[in-house]
Amino acid sequence: MDRLKRKIVQIIVAIGTNGYFKGFIDGTIYKGNSKHICVPGLNCYSCPGALGSCPIGSLQAVISSVKYKFSYYVIGLLMFFGAFFGRFICGWLCPFGLIQELLNKIPSPKFKVNKKLHGLKYLKYIILVLFVILLPMFMVNDFGMGDPTFCKYICPAGTLEGGIPLVLMNKSLQSAIGWLYAWKVFLLIVTIILSIVIFRPFCRFICPLGAIYSFFNPISLYRYKVDNNKCTGCGICGKKCKLDVEVYKNPNSLECIRCGECISNCPNDAIRVVIGMKEKQ
Ligand code: SF4
Ligand code: SF4
Ligand code: SF4
Repeated sequence: MDRLKRKIVQIIVAIGTNGYFKGFIDGTIYKGNSKHICVPGLNCYSCPGALGSCPIGSLQAVISSVKYKFSYYVIGLLMFFGAFFGRFICGWLCPFGLIQELLNKIPSPKFKVNKKLHGLKYLKYIILVLFVILLPMFMVNDFGMGDPTFCKYICPAGTLEGGIPLVLMNKSLQSAIGWLYAWKVFLLIVTIILSIVIFRPFCRFICPLGAIYSFFNPISLYRYKVDNNKCTGCGICGKKCKLDVEVYKNPNSLECIRCGECISNCPNDAIRVVIGMKEKQ
């Protein structure tokens, strides 16, 4: 039931935040007032249907123009989202997370990430610091403006949601395709293939937004708690977790996306959601 509830919320959010259907027909981008507001999940500004802005795209835009003015709005909003929800946003509200989960439903052999490769989770923090903060801040042009390097060189969400639909529908863009577009399509294909066989590989290893929200998991208002009087340490929750979190040892791990699978599978009903100081029944 909880699995179904989460899926319904994910679909409603993905469609609701990309509700400018005319954009998909015309090959244009919505530029109305709601585009000044960031959505909580990774959803490309350039998606023809997008009604809001992407927090990572906006963060880079703010950092790359730091020489002229610095807006605290995006950082404030990210802190607000993080402080309330942490990575609940990843599990419930992010359209690119949903896309990866749907890809993972395609029948194929599924792989757990080998323990030796668990250290790859730190890659997303390196990407956050290097491609979202340092390069846009310091790699500036003659006018002092930086490049949105994560959007430009890495983000497969942008290629899928923005780059491909716009190029398909827009003849003038087709003639401008070059090596960079080919590189981005290559990264997207790798992401798609990996998502079919591994659960949410982009979220796990690459996403700088997930990296930001992860810092809030232990302190956000929405948290998990293990009742030590009920928990027998059987480890079933950890085995069921597709992100290899040992929930009973660390219920607020930075890697937990709050999908709720561990709660549903705990035979002793020992894992609880805590909102603020209050335990959810
Ligand atoms: S390219 Fe990626 S990071 Fe940039 S705006 Fe689009 S989804 Fe956001
Ligand atoms: S890690 Fe990134 S892409 Fe994955 S769900 Fe979280 S915000 Fe979305
Ligand atoms: S610890 Fe539980 S809620 Fe978090 S990702 Fe794993 S199964 Fe999902």
